[in-house]
Amino acid sequence: MAVILDGKAFAAEIRSEIKTTVDTLIERFNVVPHLVVILIGEDPASQSYVKGKESACLKAGIKSSVIRMPITVTETELLAKITELNADRTVHGILLQLPIPKRFDPDKIIALIDKNKDVDGFTPENVAALTNGRPRLVPCTPLGIIKILKKYAIPIAGKHCVIVGRSTIVGKPMAALLLLENGTVTICHTKTVNLPAITNQADILVVAVGQPKMITGMHVKEGAVVIDVGISKIDGVISGDVDYESVYPKAAFITPVPGGVGPLTIACLLENCLKCYQTLMEENHD
Ligand code: NDP
Repeated sequence: MAVILDGKAFAAEIRSEIKTTVDTLIERFNVVPHLVVILIGEDPASQSYVKGKESACLKAGIKSSVIRMPITVTETELLAKITELNADRTVHGILLQLPIPKRFDPDKIIALIDKNKDVDGFTPENVAALTNGRPRLVPCTPLGIIKILKKYAIPIAGKHCVIVGRSTIVGKPMAALLLLENGTVTICHTKTVNLPAITNQADILVVAVGQPKMITGMHVKEGAVVIDVGISKIDGVISGDVDYESVYPKAAFITPVPGGVGPLTIACLLENCLKCYQTLMEENHD
């Protein structure tokens, strides 16, 4: 029987610590941390994620503003907005809600965000820093996963860590962070041959594919740590990428969906906001 890695409870702890630090820093600098989210179009999932982020910021004492741009916004307008936010000293964090319309080159847009306000850790400077082993601002989902592994004293060094999914948001930064912790890392994707043979070697298995319940008991060895990043809605019910029923009896530790990685991602976003704010304020402070 697996121990359930309670992301919800741990995220609440992190958020409470952040609130305390935010309160102290507001007293010191007399400036409220401010996150600006850019939301393009009316996608319901994106709107709901942004709402969640706004509410979390509010509870942590962080001001959040949402700049809503119509789906018809031009690249010039979007780049001009980011340039304006980069220069605005009252803004400490900038988040471009993804996905953005397909006609945009996300790399070009993200690259314009000031690396010191990059709360998602997606700018080329922050990606390079992580890859080079000197992380600055790190993508929130993999950061939350490392935190919960440490919280439950799960060793990473020397362990075979298998990641299914190679996105720039989750899979790749996850690999970089696990490597930094001296894990032995394998990344799988749609062209991987005989996936179960590889996932069965995993001491720590991180799944981020966006395919509900794709990973079943036959993919997992006895005693593995299983981290389920996936969030999909089936008939209105949220499902992860891991088939909980068949994997739970084999795993030593497992994250539930919901209540696992999701809340940690938000908590780490707040932590990154705080980091941006603190760095920017300390730079400008006498
Ligand atoms: P992407 O769609 O960007 O990437 C999916 C990855 O999974 C790709 O690398 C793809 O391989 C791989 N993949 C898809 N199907 C298979 C398969 N059958 N076998 C092996 N590999 C496969 O997804 P994201 O990384 O952005 O997100 C993944 C999931 O995590 C989604 O459900 C998303 O909603 C969720 N998510 C949850 C977060 C949270 O806070 N809990 C945060 C971010 C994401 P290839 O590269 O070959 O196409």
